[in-house]
Amino acid sequence: MEKERANTLLKKWTDLLGLQDWRIKLYPNAIPADFIQDNASGEIKWTECKKTAVIRILEESCYGEQMIPFCFERILIHELLHLKFCLLGESGNDLQDRLVHQLIDDLARALYEAAGNEREGLCEDEAEGG
Ligand SMILES: [Zn+2]
Repeated sequence: MEKERANTLLKKWTDLLGLQDWRIKLYPNAIPADFIQDNASGEIKWTECKKTAVIRILEESCYGEQMIPFCFERILIHELLHLKFCLLGESGNDLQDRLVHQLIDDLARALYEAAGNEREGLCEDEAEGG
């Protein structure tokens, strides 16, 4: 992912999501060793009181074969939605937090498609069975 294109997408989605008052640093071609979490395609760390955030998105060549194809923009929306929800914090209820994470991913996919992008295709062999 070109840095300039990545920053254009960052600007587009921070505007659309009303996150303009955050200072966000985006690392668009991160390798797995850069990530705090294991097996992540994207991650975000924020400092609430300073309204700063760092987003890392995996380099496409490190993504491997997964059921959902790599999509930089959708991953970016997902990470920005974490920021949008950040004041809710962790509820202490594991099931609720997992549900919120699922909602974030559903919303990211919906927003991505609503912005005029094509629906992501699932890999054929995996879409059928397990
Ligand atoms: Zn997430």
